[in-house]
Amino acid sequence: MILLDGKATAATIRTELKARVDALRQDHGRAPGLAVILVGDDPASQVYVRMKEKGCAEAGIVSFSHRLDAAVAQGELEALIDRLNADPAVDGILLQLPLPKGLHSQACLERIAPDKDVDGFHPENMGRLALGLPGYRPCTPAGVIELLRRHGVTTAGKRAVVLGRSNIVGKPMALMLLEYGALGDATTTVVHSRTPLDDQRACCREADIVIAAVGRPLHVKADWIKDGAVVVDVGIHRTEAGLVGDCDFEAMKDKCAAISPVPGGVGPMTIAQLLTNTVAACAAHLGA
Ligand code: NAP
Repeated sequence: MILLDGKATAATIRTELKARVDALRQDHGRAPGLAVILVGDDPASQVYVRMKEKGCAEAGIVSFSHRLDAAVAQGELEALIDRLNADPAVDGILLQLPLPKGLHSQACLERIAPDKDVDGFHPENMGRLALGLPGYRPCTPAGVIELLRRHGVTTAGKRAVVLGRSNIVGKPMALMLLEYGALGDATTTVVHSRTPLDDQRACCREADIVIAAVGRPLHVKADWIKDGAVVVDVGIHRTEAGLVGDCDFEAMKDKCAAISPVPGGVGPMTIAQLLTNTVAACAAHLGA
């Protein structure tokens, strides 16, 4: 069994990015900049933002922190996004979700200039993904593809099942598996909360690649997985037994050809992809 080690892979990516960042700074006089907006004091969001800022520091990316009170007006938040869109030191804008009640996240996401949309959530970038055109790809599914690529797993011609159809994970994940090429070209099925459990199990049992993003602890059982399948677990849940994913890792790991752990799998890859997108945005802005 190959462990799809996101922690080590992300560390390698940060080192590679640091070399690229150093070259950009040397040739163009500035490092990539990522503006990070956190609204309110949700503890999980605070942890995610701190991890993203730490990742920036390790890759040599400058992060600009914008912490706003939960009571901020929609107009004030949008005005900040407008200022960051116009700021030449800012290559990427990250709006940490979810926003506190009363704020409209979709309107904010659509306000971010597509060329600074390093999370890949703007309709223009999502549309480009759907059309198979270049653009910024959502970080979690792009991180999953990179994790597979760096462990020598190809998807072409294989049967893949994506569990979950959210706009940030499941849906773009399925679109990426449908892209042309060795890391796409999969025969892709998407299951969701309206798919009867028996059908979910049946789809998974036929799958060469299972990508779980349902947000339910240990939802995918060992007997859903065929021998030699590749399993990528996007879910992350804090339980009394510690952090667990959407898949029953311990019960299924020995029958998998490859499987990602939780923690240390997709989470670090998501951040690495955010950094990758930010460096790409900087290179595009500098014409490098
Ligand atoms: P989400 O927005 O809650 O979406 C969950 C998806 O799973 C929905 O499409 C939902 O179907 C489906 N679902 C819910 N219950 C189901 C069931 N019983 N059977 C089958 N499908 C079911 O969650 P998300 O943002 O996509 O995140 C999914 C998980 O990944 C969460 O645990 C989250 O914490 C984790 N996550 C991790 C990272 C990372 O970097 N590691 C990043 C993002 C998310 P409907 O559409 O029908 O409601």
